[in-house]
Amino acid sequence: MDRDGKTRMPVLFVGHGNPMNAIETNAFSTAWEEMGRVLERPRAILCVSAHWETSGSSVTAQERPPTIHDFYGFPEELFAVEYPAPGAPWLAARVREVCRTHPVTLDQGWGLDHGAWSVLCRMFPGADVPVVQLSLDRGKSPADHYAMGRELLPLRDEGVLVLGSGNIVHNLGRINWAGGAYAWAKAFDGRVAAMIRSGKHEEILALLDGGPDVEAAAPTTEHFLPLLYCLALQQRGEQVKFFTEEVVLGSLSMRSLIIHDVQS
Ligand code: ZN
Repeated sequence: MDRDGKTRMPVLFVGHGNPMNAIETNAFSTAWEEMGRVLERPRAILCVSAHWETSGSSVTAQERPPTIHDFYGFPEELFAVEYPAPGAPWLAARVREVCRTHPVTLDQGWGLDHGAWSVLCRMFPGADVPVVQLSLDRGKSPADHYAMGRELLPLRDEGVLVLGSGNIVHNLGRINWAGGAYAWAKAFDGRVAAMIRSGKHEEILALLDGGPDVEAAAPTTEHFLPLLYCLALQQRGEQVKFFTEEVVLGSLSMRSLIIHDVQS
């Protein structure tokens, strides 16, 4: 559908997990590819990645954001991946405009980190949709992140796909290469999923503030916080659909969701 139809763009949260998902064919990368095929083509993508934390909020404002390989200990093949999507300085400027109560700095120094490109290289392999990243301000509370997310709403009517990239459960210190998910990881992931299904966002914010299993599931919150930007954009009558939902390597939730109205 073209933009003249004035449809409101859906919102995505993707559990990105292991960076190898960028180059491996598995249930997750295949689901991201399928999502890219069925989505209305966005005019641009605004990605809130777990992997860019700053003091104050920033948006990438380059014409040509570089691909950042922000990890170590992975095969050369992964370091060789480039995702040459253009930037969108106009979108960076719009983010500043719409975030009326949360100052945003235009950034020239970051680029696309693997929270963005490991997903986008499968979802939009042509790298022909402009991408802007929005950072996570270390100084904001979960409620502040949620409030800032709400201010991004006008962008959905301007053809912008908001993509949160993180993991609902993310504890690298407890990774279990042998496979099986920890009971606490499944419990936390399921608890959050139930709150998402019932639209109880205030309970999710409260959960982060010392709820059951949160210290194990989200010992640091940066992988969880992108979800709050996505949930904050859910409008009355919109549905949430989970399109991947598995806990892998013991302590990584690969739950991903799309928020959309029932027609789209
Ligand atoms: Zn990550």
